[in-house]
Amino acid sequence: MKYPVIQNYINGSWVDSSTSKTMDVISPLDGNLLSRVPMSSAADLDKAVTAAQAAFPSWSKTPIKERVQVFFRYKVLLEKHLRELAELCSEENGKTYSESVAEIEKCIELTEFATSLPQLVTGELLEVSRGVECRTEHVPLGVVASIVPFNFPSMVPNWTIPNAIALGNCMIMKPSEKVPLSCGRLAELLKEAGLPDGVFNIVHGDVGIVEAICDHPNIEAVSFVGSTKVAKIVYQRATHNYKRCLALGGAKNHLMVLPDAISDMTAQNVAASMSGCAGQRCMAASAMIGVGNIDHIVAKICDEARKIVPGVNLGAVINKASQERIEQYISDAEKDGAKILVDGRNTSVPGKEKGTYVGPTVIDFVTPDMSVAKEEIFGPVISIMRTKTVDEALEIENANPYGNAASVFTQNGAMARYIIDRASAGMIGVNVGVPVPREPFSFGGWNESKFGVGDITGKSSIEFWTKLKKSTIKWNAEAGVNWMS
Ligand code: NAD
Repeated sequence: MKYPVIQNYINGSWVDSSTSKTMDVISPLDGNLLSRVPMSSAADLDKAVTAAQAAFPSWSKTPIKERVQVFFRYKVLLEKHLRELAELCSEENGKTYSESVAEIEKCIELTEFATSLPQLVTGELLEVSRGVECRTEHVPLGVVASIVPFNFPSMVPNWTIPNAIALGNCMIMKPSEKVPLSCGRLAELLKEAGLPDGVFNIVHGDVGIVEAICDHPNIEAVSFVGSTKVAKIVYQRATHNYKRCLALGGAKNHLMVLPDAISDMTAQNVAASMSGCAGQRCMAASAMIGVGNIDHIVAKICDEARKIVPGVNLGAVINKASQERIEQYISDAEKDGAKILVDGRNTSVPGKEKGTYVGPTVIDFVTPDMSVAKEEIFGPVISIMRTKTVDEALEIENANPYGNAASVFTQNGAMARYIIDRASAGMIGVNVGVPVPREPFSFGGWNESKFGVGDITGKSSIEFWTKLKKSTIKWNAEAGVNWMS
């Protein structure tokens, strides 16, 4: 085992979980055992919440301009440790080193945004009648929780850590039990950056600890990122307990390709979108709809896909179960009559035979009723459907229950606008395969890709992590009594 058994991080210290139940942490790259992660108990969570509650009065009263100084230093530490963090990310998640570098760079960008928060939370003030003013303030909530998935071990935690904490909250982080190591390094860097003990805590585990978070009476808000199935469970349970909740779910992103699209650029973007991070991105292109004759573009997509080499510029998928699930989807499509143009099944990387790889896969002549057209595959697979018109393509896109992203590839601006207006997704790309809005624009889907109000990053996150205090103040006490008195 490469690393010692993982501990929880409570009140600035590493502490053993009260349970002896653990899960193995296996590297998808080569199947090696990295560590073991504790399945913590509700008692462990309670200790973390107590520490966070104790830290809250002082942290929330620290002026925001002082609080963000921690994140200026944290940003520098992320830059300093970029290589080490990227290596750890690849090791536990299976993505390529360059993808991990991009992930840490995104963490830096997210942190930069948080350092701008003092500029964005200035509140409003107006003299509403003679001598009487109303003012607003964004007030932190208290102890908040963040529950994250396996596919971005550092980035998704950093969707919430800098903003929630800079806004004055204290946090309980529940990392994915599949990739628990990166969060630990983030905790150490936050401490080195000067974050007071108790403001950031980590409790490891799986279902049990998530349920305990949703039930804990002293946690005010829960943010969740993961599959739609679990997002629904968490959203229902947290809101049932009267907590604020924002739960981001899974995705099935459609990419509409029109015959006038620039073929080389489109093919490169489609191939990169479906295969980046081994297709384990909630913004990955998963279904492509060719409108009219796009055979020339499909041929180029296949050429691009064949250039992608597992273990070189394509990482591993998270585990054996995932590998088998993805291969089953491909086999089902074949059985249902689709044509496998590039086949990623039975992929093995020499010297890493225990790694869990699926090669890039292009499936053509998929119909909307097939499982590869409807379900989230979360692997390096693109399912191509064909329609005669843009409206038919939009009908397919609109019918899918998710709504994270949709993209169109065309040179026709009016057509692009037509699709922007009608696609049922929160994040739209025009000639962009992975339309993740960069900071300060916020990240969040629609439909079954997100439950709750607002987005998880950017300005929108201010509303989620704070509550608004409205004061009405009369300065000229001598003034007569009126309806406001
Ligand atoms: P997951 O839903 O299995 O797990 C997410 C978190 O929930 C983990 O911390 C896990 O421990 C916990 N969990 C798992 N099952 C649970 C249950 N039954 N009850 C309570 N908690 C439970 O997701 P994953 O496999 O880690 O991540 C992949 C999924 O996340 C994909 O569906 C992907 O689309 C989605 N995702 C969405 C976004 C987005 O922004 N919408 C971003 C990243 C990932």
